[in-house]
Amino acid sequence: MMREFVFASGNENKVAEVEYKMGGAVKLHSLKSIGCNEDIPETGSTLEENARLKARYVWENYRVSCFADDTGLEVETLGGAPGVLSARYAGAHKNSNDNMSLLLANLSGKLNRRARFRTVICFIENGEEHLFEGSVSGTIVEVGRGSEGFGYDPIFQPDGFEKTFAEMTMEEKNNLSHRGRAIAALTQFLKQKRWIGGTFDEK
Ligand code: IMP
Repeated sequence: MMREFVFASGNENKVAEVEYKMGGAVKLHSLKSIGCNEDIPETGSTLEENARLKARYVWENYRVSCFADDTGLEVETLGGAPGVLSARYAGAHKNSNDNMSLLLANLSGKLNRRARFRTVICFIENGEEHLFEGSVSGTIVEVGRGSEGFGYDPIFQPDGFEKTFAEMTMEEKNNLSHRGRAIAALTQFLKQKRWIGGTFDEK
């Protein structure tokens, strides 16, 4: 029998993508599909806290097995900023161009441009929390390049590549991305517990 989980996201595309990434071994439901139209507040001060807040909200209100994720871009010389504030770095209007401009301005003149994307997932089964993470390291380029993807993709160049995330196809990016790696860690755990079966590509 195929296991079903709620992925605490209102974005149906993201839910479908994650379901696909999990190798067709699970059926995922979005927040909308369980009748939750709440914008769950992300008031935590770490990625872990925000992932927990979202997953806990679903567990407390719906008592279903679920998971939630939170992602941030962590820049070494800025002490991990923008981190948990990545979406609203330049303000509550959540504009990617403004966020990138602010980050480039804050890095101006700095030699160390090391950064990483990090995704944390909190999975809850029977009220018990399990945390997973995935990350990808790279550098923040001086001038953005590429038009694919979203967020900080044009200014992030992963280690070992000459291209920014925004210059990669979605498939290229997904194969090495923070989110993909966190999902892989969750899927591995579920398979070990024999909560899901099926084949899974462990990239
Ligand atoms: P979320 O937790 O997935 O909503 O991500 C929070 C913020 O991090 C987004 O609004 C983006 O600014 C940034 N972000 C997350 N994932 C990516 C990515 O794959 N590429 C570029 N920016 C990202």
